[in-house]
Amino acid sequence: MATERRALIMLFGATGDLATRKLYFAMYNLYIKGNIHDHFAVIGTARNKFNDEQFRELVIKSVNSSVKNADKKTLNDFASHFYYEAHDVTDSAHYSVLRDKADELDKKYDLQGNRIFYLSMAPNFFGVVAKNLKTQNVLSTNGGFNRLVIEKPFGRDFASAKALNDALSASFNEDQIFRIDHYLGKEMIQNIEALRFGNTIFEALWNNRYIDNIQVTLAEDLGVEERAGYYDNSGALRDMVQNHIMQIVSLLAMEQPVAFKDVDIRAEKVKALRSLRVYNVAEASVNFVRGQYDPEGKNPGYRQEAGVPSDSRTETFVAGKLLFDNYRWSGTPFYIRTGKKLAGKFTRVDVVFKKPLIDIFAFPQSGSTPLTENVLTIFVDPAQGFSLRVNAKNGDQGFHTEPVDLKFIEDKTRDVPQPYERLIHDVLKGDGTNFSSWQEVGYAWKFVDQIRRVWDIQQPMFPNYQPGTMGPVAADELLTKDHRQWIYKLNQ
Ligand code: NAD
Repeated sequence: MATERRALIMLFGATGDLATRKLYFAMYNLYIKGNIHDHFAVIGTARNKFNDEQFRELVIKSVNSSVKNADKKTLNDFASHFYYEAHDVTDSAHYSVLRDKADELDKKYDLQGNRIFYLSMAPNFFGVVAKNLKTQNVLSTNGGFNRLVIEKPFGRDFASAKALNDALSASFNEDQIFRIDHYLGKEMIQNIEALRFGNTIFEALWNNRYIDNIQVTLAEDLGVEERAGYYDNSGALRDMVQNHIMQIVSLLAMEQPVAFKDVDIRAEKVKALRSLRVYNVAEASVNFVRGQYDPEGKNPGYRQEAGVPSDSRTETFVAGKLLFDNYRWSGTPFYIRTGKKLAGKFTRVDVVFKKPLIDIFAFPQSGSTPLTENVLTIFVDPAQGFSLRVNAKNGDQGFHTEPVDLKFIEDKTRDVPQPYERLIHDVLKGDGTNFSSWQEVGYAWKFVDQIRRVWDIQQPMFPNYQPGTMGPVAADELLTKDHRQWIYKLNQ
């Protein structure tokens, strides 16, 4: 039985892409499961001149585009909790309208002063909204909670991220700020903790004595599409590595938290990130590789995409080697890669264990395949599950070993909540486990800034990879020079 949460959600950017594609659908799912029901209200704000009815139509349309055959009455009841106020976030005087509306709805739905401020709009507005919410007294003061939810990107380097954080901290405490990284809402990313800390066979071996290397791949098959304006100013390092990949890596690298609670988990992630080696120029040059996709047939290369300068130096691919200078990981590299126009759209983690020190089956003429390394693969998406590759005797007459995969893939028909549903639910509960803390964000930027600094002074050899591949040749060489290989290769 779901626990019903009470809150007013004030949504800034209510007519935007994220709200209409993801957020209303997520809230609807929470509604039909009873996590929100009678005691919630949403004030949507944006510059568009909508009335409540037009806004509700937008919400209903958004939900219908994601849910087949949604029950009409349920959907109308859900939408009746939505209200709209046209509002320019830079207009300080107008916040009093939002405050009055919030107070009115608080009484109407008995929300007990609980308020969530969800900023689904360009990050350059985050500071001004946070400031006005406080100075114009939109925050509740009767003992209910005030929580701020913000989307990525959180700055474009450490300095800008710190300035943004200082601006937010003037109005909200760290435990009131929920920085969304939607990868942390994914089932199998959350499962990293379950697999690690729920299984002796993994946690006992989860260190540099038994793990040879760990590989994290976030691959996209599409190009830059309509996001050139944003993407060309960002690039794969800022867009994917600083946030999603660093979050995944910190979950893989951290020590066991004292308890399964947000403060304890965050403390361990921060500790892991503090021991990540920040590279000097020479190290960054050899340990990181960047790429940009070529044209292919009639398909444009990155530099030919609409809105991209013809001499753009923005990377659409990154691969890198990360080293943790701590007792658990010293000598065990984490290889990461992400890019656009790659061989498929998927996210996976491959934990590569060391081979047995001696292969006793490899006697002459044995016919056995040499023992392979055990690999724990976590399939994050599109399939959700994991596999463990082990060496076993095959069924032949002789004694021949071969690798076998023990595999669990989640049933596709099971209703696994989507990331935004989980994350909004976490905000309603006040659970910060699956959000990035400021310290995590700060350490991730300090690492990434060093790579960026080196890349900004070196001329890239772009374009340098064919669409439909797994990136430039140099990304493979990053591992072969260490006598290793990517576990996921093309045509698998
Ligand atoms: P969008 O441009 O589609 O929507 C922006 C919204 O802000 C619109 O409702 C617009 O009317 C409103 N707005 C703009 N200026 C305003 C002003 N001065 N006052 C009041 N309202 C104003 O943006 P989006 O794609 O929905 O992205 C929202 C946020 O989510 C951004 O931080 C973005 O980086 C992040 N994000 C989006 C996605 C996505 O899939 N769209 C994914 C990850 C992160």
